[in-house]
Amino acid sequence: NLTINKIAAGEVVEGPQSVVKELIENAIDAGATSIIVEIKEGGQKFIRVTDNGGGIHEEDVETAFMRHATSKIQYLEDLNVTLTLGFRGEALASIAAVSQIQMVTKPKEQLHGISLDIVAGNVTNKKQVGAPDGTTIIVKNLFFNTPARLKFMKTPQSDTTKIGEIMSRLALSQPHIAFKYINNNNVMFTTSGTNRLDQTILSILDKALFKSLIAMRAAKKGIELDGYISQPSYVRGNRNYEIVFVNGRYVKSKFLYRSIEEAYREKLPINKFPVCILNLKIDPSLVDINVHPTKTEIKFHDEEILYEVIYDSITSALSKNTL
Ligand code: ADP
Ligand code: MG
Repeated sequence: NLTINKIAAGEVVEGPQSVVKELIENAIDAGATSIIVEIKEGGQKFIRVTDNGGGIHEEDVETAFMRHATSKIQYLEDLNVTLTLGFRGEALASIAAVSQIQMVTKPKEQLHGISLDIVAGNVTNKKQVGAPDGTTIIVKNLFFNTPARLKFMKTPQSDTTKIGEIMSRLALSQPHIAFKYINNNNVMFTTSGTNRLDQTILSILDKALFKSLIAMRAAKKGIELDGYISQPSYVRGNRNYEIVFVNGRYVKSKFLYRSIEEAYREKLPINKFPVCILNLKIDPSLVDINVHPTKTEIKFHDEEILYEVIYDSITSALSKNTL
């Protein structure tokens, strides 16, 4: 089983960035209102995620690290109606197989916390400890026992960049959660958790960009849109700032990018892209999300309506706000 976990880790754990993503998504699923993420050396040596969510009960602590152990799937009648971010139950098992983990967790109802150490998938220590409500997971020395993966590790800088992108997206997708992101002892950003997308954007992106943003809000035919776009004068050389969330989940979709960019049509120079942060709420039964751990693909049952909502929102926002 440890071997299977190690193989699965090849699929789930692409690098430190996917560890960060999985740990944060677990914290979000656990109902945390505060999430602190600290990394060192691009996360290769050290990742710590601290949340104030529901914690894990003493009797479930080891199970959480078993493959296909998930406490979430029983609530899903249809896998398409994915309300929690995780449900496959393989992230913790896969991460644990290729790293050294220390976890401390305490549910509110339990008087003591549990501290658990795992090395390459084997529990090496478990004890009761005093702890605040919530969960802290430290992942050290990723891939230390898989030399082949270690060899292909990217530079810490490149992993730091990827983690920064994931941190921004997750924080933007959850404006009601207060995030703090620390890289090599420097606080990179903190968000207020006051559920205001504009404040969250301001905490994460630069001020000049923030000033160029135009707010949009629309509700039509079962689709709710809430977001910000930049004036056409504020463009980027790539799509990294076309950030779309569907029901709180970051997604990549050529269709969505096309809907956004066509609304800008003549206004954008060639090979330039707008900044656009869109929060879409769509009846979950009208979307298919491929939740392969490393992918974020999505299909919409009715693209036409969605195109219309996005296109109309952007064109009317632009016409009101550009001279
Ligand atoms: P999944 O998220 O797909 O269920 P994971 O391997 O990521 O699978 O996590 C396994 C289980 O461990 C979760 O279903 C959850 O019950 C528990 N768990 C993991 N992280 C946390 C956390 N930060 N707070 C509370 N429970 C957690
Ligand atoms: Mg998970």
